[in-house]
Amino acid sequence: MSDTFQQLADAILAGTPATPEDALAVLRADDAELMHVVAAAGRLRRAYFGNTVKVNYLVNLKSGLCPENCNYCSQALGSDAPILKYSWLSKEDTLAQASAGLRGGASRVCLVASGRGPSTRDVDKVTDMVESLKSEYPDVEVCACLGLLADGQAEQLKAAGVDAYNHNINTAKSNHANIVQTHTYDDRVDTVQKAKSAGISPCSGLIAGLGESDEQLVEALVALRELDSDSIPVNFLMPFEGTPHENTWELSPARCVKILAAARFVCPDKEVRIAGGREMHLRSLQPIALHVANSLFLGDYLTSEGQDARADLDMIRDNGFVVLGSEQDLAERAAQPEPADPAIRRRGAGTDVLPNA
Ligand code: SF4
Repeated sequence: MSDTFQQLADAILAGTPATPEDALAVLRADDAELMHVVAAAGRLRRAYFGNTVKVNYLVNLKSGLCPENCNYCSQALGSDAPILKYSWLSKEDTLAQASAGLRGGASRVCLVASGRGPSTRDVDKVTDMVESLKSEYPDVEVCACLGLLADGQAEQLKAAGVDAYNHNINTAKSNHANIVQTHTYDDRVDTVQKAKSAGISPCSGLIAGLGESDEQLVEALVALRELDSDSIPVNFLMPFEGTPHENTWELSPARCVKILAAARFVCPDKEVRIAGGREMHLRSLQPIALHVANSLFLGDYLTSEGQDARADLDMIRDNGFVVLGSEQDLAERAAQPEPADPAIRRRGAGTDVLPNA
């Protein structure tokens, strides 16, 4: 059985894409086979990304107050999650937040705003921020995540220096109407395609643990391959109190590693990013997951706290990986927090308290 995944990796490296059946076999591998899955997926990871880890840093420009009803989201219409809510950060605050992430080792800053999509004024605001950020940090990669794009907005963002645009498909087309009713799967795909057509690197991923079947997870991964998404954030549902999923716990650490491995087999040369829910769901398997995925977010998420940024950097170093684009000395080991319910972010953007970076 252990040879099966190695043979699959051989075939993929020789140019034969993984089939949906291959991806299903990875998801359904026995836990006793987990390290065989990781070893085979790890060959693909190293073939395309060596031992590097791309570190991204999130800045939540606008938090909560969203009119959309995505049922997994703490910022959605109808969510009672006691998160920070604020309207747009100033340019100065945005630059200060981004600088903290860059000092912590991030090479990409993700500027995120809640909402259905940006107005013309919103796009002007973000382009101004991006131009200032790029003039201060010429090497930084900037990813914008502002919701559904109207015609012409991707081109404006591109002209300002935006490198990537994130808009997750989140789940399979066949499951999409179960998680949100205020926009469609096709709306989301349209925005990813608009970004790509404007010459911006598309970033689109998924959320696992939303009640989807194995087949639907595979359907979403194959759709991401067809969309040619350059980077694929894999989120694990964080069941925020006050949202419809507050009691949804479908994931185990081993299951999360298999999901990341399935993403790697289906999209071997794409940036597979461990995203929200990493600490909560992978728990002690976080370092194992780094042998499959090649990217993560440093520190905090949009509305929840991540583990200490030092612990992230220690994990990268301790496991023989290096932060992409950074040769700085890595911080000393910090204590690992206990797995717990999502801790609402009370520091960083939108507060007077220093960010976690
Ligand atoms: S559009 Fe974005 S911010 Fe708004 S509810 Fe959906 S995921 Fe949350």
